[in-house]
Amino acid sequence: MKVLVLNSGSSSLKFQLFRIEDWAVVASGQVSRIGEVTGTFHYRWLSATGEQCIETEQHAIANHHIGLEQIVTRLQSSGALTDIQELCAVGHRVVHGGEAFHIPTIIDDAVIDAIRQMIPLAPLHNPANLDGILIARALFPQVPQVAVFDTAFHQTMPRPAYHYALPATLYNEHHIRRYGFHGTSHHYVAKRAALLLNKPLDQCNLITLHLGNGCSATAIQQGRSVDTSMGMTPLEGLVMGTRCGDLDPAILLYLTQHLGLDHHQLDALLNRQSGLFGLCGVNDMRELHRLIAQDHNQDAELALNVFCYRLKKYVGAYYAVLGQLDAIVFTGGIGENDADVRTHTLNGLNNFGIILNETANYAPNSGERVVSHATSPIAVLVIPTNEELEIAQQTLAAV
Ligand code: ADP
Repeated sequence: MKVLVLNSGSSSLKFQLFRIEDWAVVASGQVSRIGEVTGTFHYRWLSATGEQCIETEQHAIANHHIGLEQIVTRLQSSGALTDIQELCAVGHRVVHGGEAFHIPTIIDDAVIDAIRQMIPLAPLHNPANLDGILIARALFPQVPQVAVFDTAFHQTMPRPAYHYALPATLYNEHHIRRYGFHGTSHHYVAKRAALLLNKPLDQCNLITLHLGNGCSATAIQQGRSVDTSMGMTPLEGLVMGTRCGDLDPAILLYLTQHLGLDHHQLDALLNRQSGLFGLCGVNDMRELHRLIAQDHNQDAELALNVFCYRLKKYVGAYYAVLGQLDAIVFTGGIGENDADVRTHTLNGLNNFGIILNETANYAPNSGERVVSHATSPIAVLVIPTNEELEIAQQTLAAV
């Protein structure tokens, strides 16, 4: 039997098909640039003899419905899915579950309505997620569909962690509060960390750092999220590829009053023109390192320092929140691969009991690993995230 995981974005559909017996990925891929003149269909699958096969096709893909139909056709023609009856469930990534969803949830009309009601909180993501759900329901009416929410893992945060110091009506009437995102990733790496530490998750205190294009930190107490750096939207907190993270809110007033920016311009500035990109003109951490190494680019150096300094502040804050800490976990494209970021961030924290082993930190390795010194009271772990696997396993558990 198999579980299909779908991540439906505004112009793309990502998918992975898992075999539940061993959780092998039998096929995966992405339909992108939906609605444009030329769309792209990347497809990877395991052949009958166990070989990895890859193909890319370019042709117009008018809408998400056609995109998903093409995915299903290709899954069947490549032998990855011989019959729809082989599908025991479809798991959907849904960005915002608000306060309504604490766990992965089997989708029915009421759940669809609730996801729709959450659109004002996630106008860029929830409509596309919802499209994917409606299309998959129409294509596979017999197969249970499950929504796995990015916000769900953080629903255990206590009130002082999720309330902003704003007039109470804004929470009571408009649901303005911290929700947090990347929950599937934080939860997945927390479970893997517990295995590495050889401790039950509900006895682990962790700080998990998801550092990709979007970045977030989470404080995990006895296996439950008690604070996280992203807020009502994924803009708050750490410095990201193109997002600013934490800011004095009065800067927005200044920008509107003195520079005349309207809300579209503010949105573009904060979400797409800030972060690493705003500081040095590139948002890709590898490119930023190249600018520093080859060109001694001072803007890139500053961007790296701002990025790591903000991270260090969150590590300190969350250590204080937790009181006792077992491990710090790095994940995401930057967290998993960038030894310099790990070093800069944790530099000088020896007195806190956080001692990196630089040989292990810089050793070329892509798997789960310990990069702290054997004598470090707090472990530092690098754990590749796998949000799709987590969604697949939670989906199966829900059905
Ligand atoms: P997304 O959030 O889109 O899933 P990823 O988790 O893939 O993104 O992370 C993308 C970021 O990871 C980019 O800034 C990229 O430069 C960085 N990255 C990927 N590989 C490396 C590497 N080997 N060294 C440093 N940064 C890397």
